[in-house]
Amino acid sequence: MLAYTYVAKGDLRLVQKPEPSLVNDTDAIVEITLSSVCTSDLHIRHGEVPRAVPGVTLGHEAVGVVREVGSAVRKVRPGDRVAINVETFCGECFFCRRGWVNNCTLPDGGWALGCRIDGLQAKYARVPMADNGLSLIPDDVDDLHALFVGDILATGYWAAKIAEIERASSVAVIGAGPTGICVLQCAKLYSPDRLIVCEKDASRRDFVKRNYPYAQVCSPEELPALCAALPHGGADSVIEAAGGDDTFETAWRCARPNAVVTIVAMYGKPQALPLPDMYGKNLTFKTGGVDGCDCDAILKLVAEGKLDTSSLVTHTFPLSSANEAYSLFEGRKDGVIKVALKP
Ligand SMILES: [Zn+2]
Ligand SMILES: [Zn+2]
Repeated sequence: MLAYTYVAKGDLRLVQKPEPSLVNDTDAIVEITLSSVCTSDLHIRHGEVPRAVPGVTLGHEAVGVVREVGSAVRKVRPGDRVAINVETFCGECFFCRRGWVNNCTLPDGGWALGCRIDGLQAKYARVPMADNGLSLIPDDVDDLHALFVGDILATGYWAAKIAEIERASSVAVIGAGPTGICVLQCAKLYSPDRLIVCEKDASRRDFVKRNYPYAQVCSPEELPALCAALPHGGADSVIEAAGGDDTFETAWRCARPNAVVTIVAMYGKPQALPLPDMYGKNLTFKTGGVDGCDCDAILKLVAEGKLDTSSLVTHTFPLSSANEAYSLFEGRKDGVIKVALKP
């Protein structure tokens, strides 16, 4: 089968590989029906993910149909439609028992798919610990609506969950890329009064205005005045999902004193934490990668129509055109938000 592969830094290619087979009795083999390209894939391409193993098939966000399961798999059966979680985890170690599945201590625990073990930009994939990593897609949810459940929607859901958003509060989301838009939708579940989205790209601002009229959209230049005018002089919760050169600073500066600033962006460079400048502001920072253990709950919200990310897919390519898909996505051409790949 063809698999889109991280050959070396700067070198991604379609490579012929054998179809995967079961290794452990907790594995499942999933036939991928739709996958996507994620910004994290671009970070791997640029050599910014030290854990990424050369030769690995990329892709960690997909839906598919279970074709084979190991003898210990209980949750899914061949023929089931599933969303695949970006993270594989045991559910039993110190971290998993606390919901911190990103730090599962198993060798294949955490973000392994499409990074340390073969991922989902291929016709078939082996998913370890399938009972934890696969979520059944309800019959009335199509592939397009379920595609982002395992990664960017999981990230948005997790970010909103840890951001301590109170009812009738103000939330600022930095970045209206695919992850920022998922954060926005998930933050809304907590019923804040004000949802501000800061985005430097005008076409993305327009996209948010068109699709999420409940959000107040602004440019980075407009954000400081907008936040200063909030009841407590800044946003009650800030979620940074942009990962730009200066967006970490944008995030903490627009927060009110004692706010929670949640960082879900993945940076290509180190960020400064200028403690003297923020002294007395008494901020709480939460950082890191998604703990993707709420995918079943997210799928339920998708089925109920409370989360809808189908409009994020602006372009679909066959897997055989993955190079083209990556260059469009990375170059932000043609108004692209998210690219889907069909094996
Ligand atoms: Zn991702
Ligand atoms: Zn674990």
